[in-house]
Amino acid sequence: MTDSESILEKQKQYLWPNHLLYYSEPMPLDHGDGVYVWDVDGNQYLDFFAGILTTSVGHNNEKVINAVREQMGKLVHSSTLYPNEQHVLLAEKIAELAPGHLQQSYFTNSGTEANETAIQLARGYTGAHEVIALRNGYHGRSAITSSLTGISGWRNPTVHISGIKHALAPYCYRCPLKLTYPECGVACAEDIEDVIKTTTPGRIAAFIAEPIQGVGGFVTPPVEYFQIAEEIVHRYEGLLIIDEVQTGFGRTGEHWWAIEHSDVVPDVMTMAKGVANGFPMGNTITTTEIAESTGGQGLTISTFGGNPVVCAASRATIDVMETVADPQHSQTVGSRLRSGLDAMAEKYPLIGDVRGRGLMQGVELVTDRKSKEPATEAVNQLFEATRRRGLLIGKGGMYSNVLRITPPLTATEEHVDEALEKIEHALAEVQENF
Ligand code: PMP
Repeated sequence: MTDSESILEKQKQYLWPNHLLYYSEPMPLDHGDGVYVWDVDGNQYLDFFAGILTTSVGHNNEKVINAVREQMGKLVHSSTLYPNEQHVLLAEKIAELAPGHLQQSYFTNSGTEANETAIQLARGYTGAHEVIALRNGYHGRSAITSSLTGISGWRNPTVHISGIKHALAPYCYRCPLKLTYPECGVACAEDIEDVIKTTTPGRIAAFIAEPIQGVGGFVTPPVEYFQIAEEIVHRYEGLLIIDEVQTGFGRTGEHWWAIEHSDVVPDVMTMAKGVANGFPMGNTITTTEIAESTGGQGLTISTFGGNPVVCAASRATIDVMETVADPQHSQTVGSRLRSGLDAMAEKYPLIGDVRGRGLMQGVELVTDRKSKEPATEAVNQLFEATRRRGLLIGKGGMYSNVLRITPPLTATEEHVDEALEKIEHALAEVQENF
């Protein structure tokens, strides 16, 4: 086996330097089992970031691996020129889980592609061009999706796509209007209308948003936000596109989709990451009426979209979710995680805010609770301290000062307790430096 030093050396030599790596000394991972992974030096970690919320039913899940093996023995690839059973059965299953009348899918290979496809769909369907996205949001790395992104560090400086405007983020902890919920009446949502009236011709193709801003640091809008947004967007004849790339498939507890917490049905929904437990897949789902509009809009193909092996992996992943890791499970295990983090917030002044839903919990660290100065360095130290204790977590936020804690959906309360203990020990150590 190649040791970590030579892997890191080859990484430097043969991969672009813009690959962002976690930890002062990045660790190459070697194998995984359930909620645990091991690096090439044999160190074991409890994986509470799940490959960016992607290993949704755990590493090397037996059901998923068996389904993939079986399909690989039959047919690895067909392209979308030939219908295949796995493709249509998966589409049928997702239609069954999706809210409202969302029924027809277009499968691609990533969240970026799913969102790119959604914007093209909305522009084609409405005949309008302008799209409203949210500040502090993240939607991908392509030209359009990087332009939709509202975090400067993640916007690609080499591209500029016209017709994309950004409304205020529903970021209660750092309210852009300096108001307090609920007295604010969710005033930030009204900004969508203001942006439409002042910066567009008065018609829009779409409004796109994440139900919980993922890369942006698990910013969790009040449930009314999307109810107000939906009304405005439809009044201006745009489509409501909800990006469930991080939040989908029960991650936020109670419901299959995070937007359901707001009791709102989107016109278009995108998903990726956890949909196939690590196999590359993106999907854009919409109603038959909206999908119908693509008929007259030229030819398009996704060579790998709907790949039978990946679809088999996704079907097995959803099967595991339905049987042992359903939204209720995320709710129960997530509540335990949340209570533990809330208790830490009482003890450690570094914690400015705890937010999120289900198994998607964020902890924003600040050096001073009054000024809310972002504690970016404390997060860096906490990363090293949790790593030493055998725990992987994620980070995010405009200032990289938010911990993102997102175990596989198959994690149990025992795993949560193990993680909380490691986080608390690490936090106690780091708090001393601030
Ligand atoms: N949307 C959201 C909400 C995301 O978090 C991401 C990835 N972090 C994407 C889209 C893009 O997905 P991908 O990296 O698979 O292209």
